Amino acid sequence: MAEGQLKQGIAAGRLAPGQYSDNFSDLHPPLTQHEAVVEADRCYFCYDAPCMQACPTSIDIPLFIRQIATGNPLGAAKTIFDQNILGGMCARVCPTETLCEEACVRETAEGKPVQIGRLQRYATDTAMARNKQFYERAGSSGKRIAVVGAGPAGLAAAHRLAVYGHDVTIFEAKPKPGGLNEYGIAAYKATDGFAQAEVDYVLAVGGIAIDYDKALGRDFSLADLTASYDAVFLGMGLAGVNALRAEGEEAYGVHDAVDFIAQIRQASHLSQLPIGRRVVVIGGGMTAIDVAVQSKLLGAEEVTICYRRGKEHMNASEFEQDLAASKGVSIRHWLQPKRVITEGGSVRGIELEYTAMADDRLVGTGEMIRLEADQIFKAIGQTFDGAPLNGSGNLIAMENGRIKVDGEGRTSLPKVWAGGDCVRDAREDLTVAAVAAGRDAAESIHRALTSNGRA
Ligand SMILES: Cc1cc2nc3c(=O)[nH]c(=O)nc-3n(C[C@H](O)[C@H](O)[C@H](O)COP(=O)(O)OP(=O)(O)OC[C@H]3O[C@@H](n4cnc5c(N)ncnc54)[C@H](O)[C@@H]3O)c2cc1C
Ligand code: SF4
Repeated sequence: MAEGQLKQGIAAGRLAPGQYSDNFSDLHPPLTQHEAVVEADRCYFCYDAPCMQACPTSIDIPLFIRQIATGNPLGAAKTIFDQNILGGMCARVCPTETLCEEACVRETAEGKPVQIGRLQRYATDTAMARNKQFYERAGSSGKRIAVVGAGPAGLAAAHRLAVYGHDVTIFEAKPKPGGLNEYGIAAYKATDGFAQAEVDYVLAVGGIAIDYDKALGRDFSLADLTASYDAVFLGMGLAGVNALRAEGEEAYGVHDAVDFIAQIRQASHLSQLPIGRRVVVIGGGMTAIDVAVQSKLLGAEEVTICYRRGKEHMNASEFEQDLAASKGVSIRHWLQPKRVITEGGSVRGIELEYTAMADDRLVGTGEMIRLEADQIFKAIGQTFDGAPLNGSGNLIAMENGRIKVDGEGRTSLPKVWAGGDCVRDAREDLTVAAVAAGRDAAESIHRALTSNGRA
């Protein structure tokens, strides 16, 4: 154990200086050319490939794997980018174990799928390293489109629209692009400034301007955009956070997990980032796993995830749960937070109640447990903040707390489309789903603008 771990409370520098870069290195190192060809040879190039059907962006997986197998990684990259311009990030962050690789016939037959994600990374990294651009813009359409949010949904929409010859301006509230690719994805999934490098690669197509530090609802209204642009795409993600609903949650040492992950992603020296000695994470999804694992990697001595339902109900995949366990994170089930225990305004622990299912409902059993903690992370989901859309005259229709859209991404307002996390549809809150939604909305906008010239 490093000496720093003995520091009480929340403290920086728990590890020896060199340990940080080791701990936060690439989760899945890239394949070499030889490894990629050997792995590609494992593919059966299935007809009606189930892997492809499981991919939210419908990448032609057997085709790109065949291109790798025949020594054509650039062709493979084009196959991927044609469907998913953020294929490089998706290769790193997609929960492939519940998407393409779960569907792979070699997973079904022998429990060892073709490593589709790593092959996708090999192809896209090769193209990006050579700065090979595959798309030329069509002649100018004379149409101007506003995109709100430079996250995966906004970037995918902007790229597809730019290729069609439209001029795109992205309005981004933050000083950097990428959305959660830049601020949310676990540091060990996207190393070496990959999020920014990918945005640069996407923008190289031309025709896309990003206006940073410009927030809808603060600096301009939706009505301003619809008055000045031919069409608008909203890709604002989820800015709100659910409350813990536990007494004392405002104490020093209780943090929102997404904010803390953003601090990790933006830290120039991880050794300067304070972390608790005993950390409790409340939640059961990917964010809970990410904040727990990264707390451990920052040197927390004990990290416990508490989830109010059973293992089988967790949103985090089996792979993610195993990853957490392999880093020394404990996961406890059937516990809900009741009270943050404080001393002098600082966290000292948390009181939780055991839960159970009764008549298909989750109920507290009344039995309590206390865990010592000096830091607590809330990872209990994000919510859509609709406030920036107010004051624009016509109110946009909402559904289940998010923007309502039809199958093409059209909202209830003329000229306005939306996609990604800010929209409630059948798709999950995943990077790849946001890319698919942005791309598909761009196709719909293009059709609308070219069929009658008006959106
Ligand atoms: C901690 C965490 C870890 C995750 N890990 C994974 C993972 O490993 N794999 C995976 O597939 N998915 C993961 N996800 C989910 C994934 O990141 C999201 O589904 C995806 O980023 C959604 O893309 P988006 O473009 O809709 O929204 P976002 O990525 O949230 O981007 C929205 C953008 O809009 C901007 N914006 C917001 N409001 C305004 C405004 N009023 N005006 C202007 N701009 C605005 C924001 O600043 C942001 O840049 C994770 C999510 C979280 C929270
Ligand atoms: S299911 Fe597996 S074996 Fe079949 S095409 Fe997809 S990756 Fe190849």
